[in-house]
Amino acid sequence: MAKHYDQAFHLWYSHHYELKRMVTLGIDGGCQWGKHPKRRCQHCSIQGLTPKVAALEKVIPTLESIVGELHSNVYAAGDSTLGFSKNQWQGTFAFLDQLAEACENSSVLRSHRFMLAYGLVSEFLKSAEICKGFIRTWNVGIETFDSKLLKSASKGINRGKEHIYDALELARELDYRLYVSGILGLPNTTVQSLAREVEDWLTFAEMYQDIVTTLSVSLPSVIPGSRMYWDIYNTQPEVREWHGEFIPCHKLSKLYIKKYTEVEIEDVQAALNDIAKGTLSIAQNGGNPLKFGGYMMGGIDAAEMKENELLKEIVAQLD
Ligand code: SF4
Repeated sequence: MAKHYDQAFHLWYSHHYELKRMVTLGIDGGCQWGKHPKRRCQHCSIQGLTPKVAALEKVIPTLESIVGELHSNVYAAGDSTLGFSKNQWQGTFAFLDQLAEACENSSVLRSHRFMLAYGLVSEFLKSAEICKGFIRTWNVGIETFDSKLLKSASKGINRGKEHIYDALELARELDYRLYVSGILGLPNTTVQSLAREVEDWLTFAEMYQDIVTTLSVSLPSVIPGSRMYWDIYNTQPEVREWHGEFIPCHKLSKLYIKKYTEVEIEDVQAALNDIAKGTLSIAQNGGNPLKFGGYMMGGIDAAEMKENELLKEIVAQLD
């Protein structure tokens, strides 16, 4: 770890974190937004999973050991961790309120902001103040700043630009870091909306470059189990033919964009390139470590096969 991992973390993230490692730990699961049958997000396979949290008496000693002994941050790998405070979702959970109090009472955890946690925009607006003592980074899928596109992806909870910017301003005020992701090529995308999205993402990168650790915008991933996969599986015979243990991610994204938008995958990729180049140039000019990520690995297309081979070689060396 010291030889490889610590150096990589130093290069990529040390600027944003006082502790110089990151351990993944699931402390909750499920999503309260997706639990409601009328609010089906298109590109997610966890919908309907019951929201749940781990027992606090187990969570706290584990966090103390990760922070105190390993000197590491914690990536809370839940689906919507920031949704578990008492002032939201009819007060079903008070997990974050209790966690904040327990961290404050712990001599090990009290002095650190060590957690990276996922949450919807509206969840962050409600829980940011409660969690400001222990959460360092808010991980959010903004998807797009275009309210029309958001609506057709059934994720109306992000509502629109102003709502998103309210949350971003709150993040700055409370000294959070941001890990932000988005999708280009959502249903009903047009050439004009694509151009607007590039502008929106670059404006965002420019405005928040000092507190964004990573901006990750990618093509729509058609994940088995999601509604978008189910629809395309039922309507496109080739998808039924491709269906199997490994799926051709790139071909699926291409087909999805062709079927549901007015643009081609090449248009979306060109727009992604513009965002990537623009983001990196903002980062370099501002002398800050903002990063761009725009690709998900997996599947069986030629490039993906090559990456799988590389991954296998690495794993073989670890055996
Ligand atoms: S996409 Fe996000 S908001 Fe929608 S069901 Fe999945 S985790 Fe919940």
